[in-house]
Amino acid sequence: MSNGEKDKLGELMHSARIARELEWVRKHEEELLAKLRLRTKAGEQNASCPECDKKLVEDAEHGTGGLVCPERHGAWLSWDTIVKMLDRLAHPESK
Ligand SMILES: [Zn+2]
Repeated sequence: MSNGEKDKLGELMHSARIARELEWVRKHEEELLAKLRLRTKAGEQNASCPECDKKLVEDAEHGTGGLVCPERHGAWLSWDTIVKMLDRLAHPESK
């Protein structure tokens, strides 16, 4: 095999490796997108914490009617509840 042929073979092998890597990336991205779609669909009835992915539970402790992460990473409250809370904080004397 001449040096020119070896170079060509090397180039071909390099191209084949890049093609395999691109194929892997494409498959990996497809898998991630599929997972994301499933998560979004499940999230319609089953919200989960974006931090730890655990299912949010009702906040019985404070009676806000909201959902909280069991690990206390965060909470989901309706906008009306947030407005009422802010109003109560701004005017603590009036009930
Ligand atoms: Zn969490």
